[in-house]
Amino acid sequence: MSQKQKKLRIIPLGGLGEVGKNMMAYEYQNQYLIVDAGIMFPENDMLGIDYIIPDFEYLRDKSRQVVGIVVTHGHEDHIGAIHHVIDQIPAPIFATPLTLGLIEVKLARHGMANKADLRRVQAGETVQIGPFKVEFFHVCHSIPDGVGLGITTPAGLIIHTGDFKFDHTPVDGWPTDYAKLAELSSRGVDLLLADSTNAERQGWTPSERVIGPALDNVFKDAPGRVIVATFASLISRMQQVANTAVSHNRKMAFVGMSMVDNAKIARKLGYLIVPDETVVTIEQALNLPPKKVVLMCTGSQGEPSSIIGRLSTGSNRQFEVEPNDTIVLSSHPIPGNEESISRTINRLLRLGANFINDSIAPVHVSGHASQEEQKLLLNLVRPKHFMPVHGELRQLKRHAYLARQVGIEEENIVVVENGQVVELANGKVSLGERIPGGYVFVEGGSIGGVDTAIMREREQLSRSGIFLINLTVDKRNGKLVHGPEINSIGFLSPEDAEGLVPSTRKKIVEAVNRGGTDIEKQILSAVKSHLYNETRRRPMIFVTIARA
Ligand SMILES: [Zn+2]
Ligand SMILES: [Zn+2]
Repeated sequence: MSQKQKKLRIIPLGGLGEVGKNMMAYEYQNQYLIVDAGIMFPENDMLGIDYIIPDFEYLRDKSRQVVGIVVTHGHEDHIGAIHHVIDQIPAPIFATPLTLGLIEVKLARHGMANKADLRRVQAGETVQIGPFKVEFFHVCHSIPDGVGLGITTPAGLIIHTGDFKFDHTPVDGWPTDYAKLAELSSRGVDLLLADSTNAERQGWTPSERVIGPALDNVFKDAPGRVIVATFASLISRMQQVANTAVSHNRKMAFVGMSMVDNAKIARKLGYLIVPDETVVTIEQALNLPPKKVVLMCTGSQGEPSSIIGRLSTGSNRQFEVEPNDTIVLSSHPIPGNEESISRTINRLLRLGANFINDSIAPVHVSGHASQEEQKLLLNLVRPKHFMPVHGELRQLKRHAYLARQVGIEEENIVVVENGQVVELANGKVSLGERIPGGYVFVEGGSIGGVDTAIMREREQLSRSGIFLINLTVDKRNGKLVHGPEINSIGFLSPEDAEGLVPSTRKKIVEAVNRGGTDIEKQILSAVKSHLYNETRRRPMIFVTIARA
């Protein structure tokens, strides 16, 4: 085989240059291995969007060359798009038992339970997937059963960490597999791809152990119900809340479909240990004395459709916030969500609830390595090349800086964002071509209906409002017969309309009287410039002309 063919291509489809929708493809001799297929939650200006998935257009015509999809752990930013992906790319999915269980829940919810070829692997196992020898090793994170990957091809050995931290006392007692990292290192690692989430955070990420005592205090002091909000896939946190519930003799109810489903599968597989007598349904919980209850639900990011979001606006059907409730937000804001979280908190306080988050007590710790852990990983692995992944550009750059600090040469570090292909050949890393790596919006469960152009229109609508013009002209001579009627939404106050509507009507009549081939266009441009001159604003203008 020629040297030229011994080339591994690293194709970042999501998660580089952003937080969320992680997806990587590795290519060796026209065979592809996908690692993770996650979603990203929409930002505030992405109106109406349920979530965003990676653009994997690049792989669509190569679907039969995809030999496998490996999933590192069960968080939404790694599994959330899996049903969209296997719909187009029916490759076998390799994951550890809990991750696979959470994937099964997701597939069942989308009516795809029997459509996937699911292959169970355990941390510590090695699986040959096409030309890729994949060694799964355990990593600590905020969900049990997470793995990193050693991937060997004739082009070399790479390590893909997945989300990790170096917690010596994790909730499940299963620390990151340092021995495996050292063993991979001894073989010579050509390229390390590592989680950059906390590259701007100094020191060490605290152990999950610190949460136990903090929750203990919350439960001790709570005069009524305790309502804990977190991500439905933060199984480790569920475990900690369950432990605290048991020791304080409270019953625990999981609220909301994703919470209930995930807790069920995690309990069934033995990754969440809660005594049967502790778990009650929400209906049972609502009939117990408030001091005997803890509810576990979603909404830690202030999402309006989550349980906490609905509680804050009084629109939750099953139950409402009561003055003695203690609400614990057990997660850290995803960048961009701070505003909506803050609004939600204020609403809950207005309803009389007590409120605790990680700035009040350590009820949350990050699941990602901080700077000292990232440097430890780099020193442990001593890779020839380094590529930061899983983070915004600022975090990727910071991670690269840390790598230089521990002695990795600048020319051996490659910082790229989604869509920039990287190649490993002859023990050297270089940049390949650019491919699509943008957003695919999902709305109402379907993809492709909404693109960035529509998103821009929605944004404009929401920013500047609408101006509607209706008129009827004589179809023979083009003279004005009726109107123009003018309506606006989100653009003019009644006082402003008083002056502006008549002057705009005058402009429209002038445009109609000028005649010409394209009256719509003439009206549009006349109104546009008039409104801009008068208000310095640009609403979306719609002109409807009936011809009678
Ligand atoms: Zn994660
Ligand atoms: Zn992640």
